[in-house]
Order: sequence, then structure tokens, then C-alpha cells
Amino acid sequence: MKTNTPTPITIAKGDGIGPEIMDATLRILEAAGAQLAIEEIEIGEKVYLQGNSAGILPEAWESLRRTKVFLKAPITTPQGGGFKSLNVTTRKVLGLYANIRPCVSYHPFVQTKHPKMDVVIIRENEEDLYAGIEHQQTDEVVQCLKLLSVPGTEKIVRYAFEYAKAYNRKKVTCFTKDNIMKMTDGLFHKTFDRIGEEYPEIEKEHWIVDIGAAKLADTPEKFDVIVMPNLYGDILSDVAAQITGSVGLAGSANIGDGFAMFEAIHGSAPRIAGQNKANPSGLLLGAIQMLVHIGQQDVAEKIQNAWLKTLEEGIHTYDIFKEGTSKQKLGTREFADAVIAHLGQKPQTLEPVSFRKDVAGFNIQLSPKTPAHKELVGVDIFLQHGNRNPDALAGELLKAEGYPLKLSMITNRGTKVWPEGFPETFCTDHWRCRFKNANGHALGYADVLKLQQQIHQAGFDIIKTENLYEFDGVAGFTAAQGQ
Ligand code: NAD
Repeated sequence: MKTNTPTPITIAKGDGIGPEIMDATLRILEAAGAQLAIEEIEIGEKVYLQGNSAGILPEAWESLRRTKVFLKAPITTPQGGGFKSLNVTTRKVLGLYANIRPCVSYHPFVQTKHPKMDVVIIRENEEDLYAGIEHQQTDEVVQCLKLLSVPGTEKIVRYAFEYAKAYNRKKVTCFTKDNIMKMTDGLFHKTFDRIGEEYPEIEKEHWIVDIGAAKLADTPEKFDVIVMPNLYGDILSDVAAQITGSVGLAGSANIGDGFAMFEAIHGSAPRIAGQNKANPSGLLLGAIQMLVHIGQQDVAEKIQNAWLKTLEEGIHTYDIFKEGTSKQKLGTREFADAVIAHLGQKPQTLEPVSFRKDVAGFNIQLSPKTPAHKELVGVDIFLQHGNRNPDALAGELLKAEGYPLKLSMITNRGTKVWPEGFPETFCTDHWRCRFKNANGHALGYADVLKLQQQIHQAGFDIIKTENLYEFDGVAGFTAAQGQ
């Protein structure tokens, strides 16, 4: 589809090698006929050092809200505390829930141990342990909340299947650790199974993340699209990019409901800044994802094929230059000129790309959901308690408990220590005491408050409580290890 109306986009040249690789990328886009109305904003080191802890000025948000498309060069985060990660801020503020990172090897033109690799990592970008909700609860224990939501999980999983469909991918793999995290990662896995049924033409598989990661590092050619929660995706998208042979060649897209941000995955490489040495390919590949996103697939295709042809001819920047395979070592500007000179050509050895013209962004719809019947059935009360003897603690709590809530279990760091704990289990000062409804009648929150009051009056140090619910009769909490 050839558009004649330029699409408004926002760009930021960033720091270090950012301006050089952005200029090279924009020249290639222009030469290929991309129809863009470009607004430039200032982000990064200069803005941080002016005293703006987010690294982005208020007027920059206005441009982003207007264009909803952001092509971003890497920035330098100044050393020292108090500076917030601009990437995390942008992702969260603009709701960029999906991170898409194609990891492709370009054998034999770029050295790699995995010549046939072509994997797309789709990482959930907003939830999981990255909610940033952490607390010190006792002298000895800190916690980080891992939050996954039904809509958040459904959005990313559906995105992965839609992506696979649009890009003619055959298989979607899901990585989780639901053998341990039965509720959070369990939700992700179950959602994958549920949504996957709507895509019968796509092969589906699930791996526990540890063995899945090992397989990915060993035989990446067995994978196609992989979808995973935030933390695993953060780690494994770097591993996958690295084993293609060069992190410098990967671009990435961050996609939200009305917004998208595109970038290289590498940083601002300050040591080679201003020397016309940097490889602009990572940002260029990010920009190609952007062109597909805004419906300029023909231009995207033309650029990527010219870029592949340039690589194939041994025209390389210093970072991937290798005696024997490479023929010419060029600077940033000259490499961009070479890509421009190859526009209209296709690679011979590497697979040429072709993007479906009828698919740009995906319209991700969430399944309708009726709220479940929720019933309070108990409470976990967390205590800081210095005496490391669980039986003694249980004895004191049994004296403090109040009908209808009865003490049913005590755990320490998740392991059951009462009743019938093992004397070998190491205990910290952080105890979870589970009280269940011992009455046939419905439990009310007032019962929980009364119990807390009694425990508090008995001299215990309550550090937090978690209500125990059943949703449509199904327990919304896990049993303890050893229970
Ligand atoms: P880096 O990615 O900038 O550099 C790592 C290595 O790769 C260096 O040897 C560098 O010279 C090389 N390299 C990176 N990009 C290259 C390219 N396009 N061409 C040739 N060689 C390239 O990582 P770093 O040194 O850890 O970080 C430098 C700065 O970048 C830090 O301030 C960091 O916070 C920032 N950073 C920003 C982003 C971002 O804006 N998205 C991402 C990562 C790091």
C-alpha cells in the first residue's frame, strides 16, 4: 500500500551514537520513499542533567500523544542515583504492553553458532515483577510483588498469536514457570491454552522456562515465536539477540493500544560516539518494524531487502567486519549510502522478506468476562516474630485466635512449619499464619478485623494480611510447600 499522506511520527536522536545512527536511518527511509511527517523531541542525558529526573520534557509528551508513533535512538542514563529509566517510564505511561524482538542470524555473512536462527521474542512489558512494588517487611525479609492480570495476560498472548498469523509464522511457544508459580505463571499458561484454541492453524507448545531457555540457547532453530511474562522475556530476549551473532543488529518494537515505540536494542555506545563508526542496523530494523506498523509495508520490504543485500555483499561496519567473509569496512554514513544504493534489490543467499500488505497494527479485543462469585474463606496474617520455634508460636496464636477463624497452618518463607513441621527447616523472623473459617456460615471482613485485633492485643507484630477468597468455589490461593 503506497500512502501519499505522510504519517506523523516523533523521533529522538538520543545520546552517544544516537544522532549518527538516526541520521543514517532517516536518510535510508527517505531514499526508499517513506512518507513521514517527522517531529523531533529532546530526551536523554541533557534533559536528565537539566534536573528532569525522567529524562523527557513535558512538551515531548505532547508530540508523542499527537503522533502516537516514536522512533527512538538510544540514550545515556547519567551515573548516580535519582534518574528514572526513560524506557520504563515510556512503556508504562503509554501502556506499551508488548515488546517484540526479532532475533535473526545472517549466516554466513555474520558469524554465529546458530546459522538457521529466526526467532521472535514477544515479551509482556508492563506486569510481573516489574510493577516495582517492593517492601522490607521484617529485619530479615524483603518482598517484591509479582502481579499478573487477566486482561494484561490475554492482551500479550493474543498479540503473539495475531503476530504469528500476520507474519506467516507456524508456531507459538509459551515459556512460564507454572510448576512453581501456579497462580501467576499458571494464569499465563492457561490463557495461552485458552486463546490458542482460537488459532487452530498455528502450532502451540509450552515449556517450563528453565529447560525452554536451555533449548533456546542450544537449538534456537526449533523455535519460531515465543511469548513470555516480563522477567523471562527481559532476560531471554537478550540471550536470543546475542546468540544470533550480534546484538548490534537487533531492533525492537514496544506496542500499546494506540501507541508504539521503535528502537535498537543496544545502548548509546559513548566510546565510539562521533566517530562515524557505529552500525545503524539495529535502529534501521526498528524503523522497518515502524513502517510495517504504520501501513508502509512496501517501503519496509524494500529497505530490509536492500539491507540484506548489502550485508550479503560483505559491506559491513567494523563491529561485524571479519576478514574472509567481509569485503568492505565502512563507516555509519557510507554504510547507509550502500543500503540506499541497493534499494530495489533482493538478497540471493539470505531469505528476502515480504510483509503482508493487509496487516499493520492488530486490533486486540479482550474476551468478555462476568465477575465470579467471590467468597471470603480465611486470612493469612504475616508476623515479624523473633522466636524461631514454630510450635511455641502456634501455642501463643491458638490462645489469641477467635472463632470462627481457626489457625490452620504456619509457614516460613512458604514452607509449612506447623502443624507437623520438620525441625530441620530454617526459619527467619517472617511468619505466615493461615486462619480458615471453621464455621459453616459466611465469613465477613469484620471477623478478620476482630482476629487481627486479638492477635495485636496479644502482643504480636502484624506486618501484613492477605484475604483468602474462593472464586466460584475455586480456591484463589495456593497451599504451602510441604502441605
Ligand atoms: P551499549 O549497547 O551502548 O554498548 C555495548 C557494546 O556494544 C560497546 O562495546 C559498544 O561500542 C558496542 N555497540 C553498541 N551499539 C553499537 C553499534 N550500533 N555499532 C557498533 N557497536 C556498538 O551498552 P553499554 O555500554 O552498557 O551502555 C552505554 C549507555 O547506553 C549507558 O548509558 C546505558 O544506560 C545506555 N543504554 C541505553 C539503552 C536505550 O536507550 N535503549 C539501552 C541500553 C543501554
